[in-house]
Amino acid sequence: MAFLSATLERIRPSPTVAITQLARDLKAQGRDVIGLAAGEPDFDTPAHIREAAKAAIDAGHTRYTPVDGIPELKAAVAAKFRRDNGLDYAPEEISVATGGKQVIYNALMATLEAGDEVIIPAPYWVSYPDIVRLAGATPVIVETRLEDGFRLRPEALEAAITPATKWLIFNSPSNPTGAGYSRAQIAALAEVLERHTHVWVLSDDIYEHIRYDGFEFATPAEVAPALKERTLTLNGVSKAYAMTGWRIGYCGAPKPLVDAMRKLQSQSTTNPCSIAQWAAVEALNGPQDFIATRNKAFRNRRDLVLAELGRIEGIDCPRPEGAFYVFPSIAGLIGKRSRGGTEITDDETFARALLEETGVAVVHGAAFGLSPFFRISYATSSALLAEACARIADFCAGLR
Ligand code: PLP
Repeated sequence: MAFLSATLERIRPSPTVAITQLARDLKAQGRDVIGLAAGEPDFDTPAHIREAAKAAIDAGHTRYTPVDGIPELKAAVAAKFRRDNGLDYAPEEISVATGGKQVIYNALMATLEAGDEVIIPAPYWVSYPDIVRLAGATPVIVETRLEDGFRLRPEALEAAITPATKWLIFNSPSNPTGAGYSRAQIAALAEVLERHTHVWVLSDDIYEHIRYDGFEFATPAEVAPALKERTLTLNGVSKAYAMTGWRIGYCGAPKPLVDAMRKLQSQSTTNPCSIAQWAAVEALNGPQDFIATRNKAFRNRRDLVLAELGRIEGIDCPRPEGAFYVFPSIAGLIGKRSRGGTEITDDETFARALLEETGVAVVHGAAFGLSPFFRISYATSSALLAEACARIADFCAGLR
């Protein structure tokens, strides 16, 4: 009898974490590495949030809490949904977990069985298909196209829905493309979903606040109120508040689903960290103005990367509306050979040769389910980004 569960064979370790680790290892060996693979802001958690956490420790908020969130945080989440999204969620329709990732995990584990299908537009955040597989269900990957700005078309959604479809996972602004859906684009998808009443929507809004050029964020439950009774609206403090390590994510969803997720969480992590919950209360209720200041820095970096990549022959990169990623195509480079002798057969050989020959770590598109592309995370300093882009340009110039 095998010791390790066969379930584990259905999933792979997170490729973005693996590449970040490879870059770290090369750095430890003394190589000059620029890591553009990690999906987290390089800013610190703002001081007022850090202070709230220290105060929580001193006030003795160091014990178990209610399973899916302290009442103060649920109230802050409800106020956030009302303020930012025009959505009314009662406390019993709110669930707080150890990161947005655990919210997704709870929701999918609580609802999926063998035979169920989950529609995931590609390119996708790496964890969606694996969590679906872990739950024993089948990810149905629907590829999007660069010429559509990597957005799911309503006809493609319609064609992917079967009687076995349980969820559509929707992510705007997207990791890895940064593409954001307008209200009208969401309404067009909602029109399809309204006709298929057995399909639920998991809307991953984690990059809501990181957006540029006047892009107006919208979320399905708000755009199409008829969908709210079968929508889970996911968000968290990791990205907007530079709190990736604090591990707080939350959602609004119908009560029966929230109840099921609480049951599951009560037998796994019990509750999210008490101190991090109090920090999240301050994040959501406190000043929000630093977000716009940080977005300006992110936008300048995005523009720098787009300008530099735009000069490279064989690379084609759409302009993203949000998040801190770009997802350029390398279709024009396939079949060429690098100075180091690697034939660029796909995005994986491109990313590997780029790392080995220039020390720039990016993530290949196949990790996100769409080739031939690669993802740059521009959540790093402009100086490093400029240097990385110069190395990428030199690498591409050397391709024959
Ligand atoms: N959703 C997307 C699209 C992400 O990129 C991430 C993190 O990278 C998450 C969810 C999960 O974030 P966290 O678990 O830190 O809240």
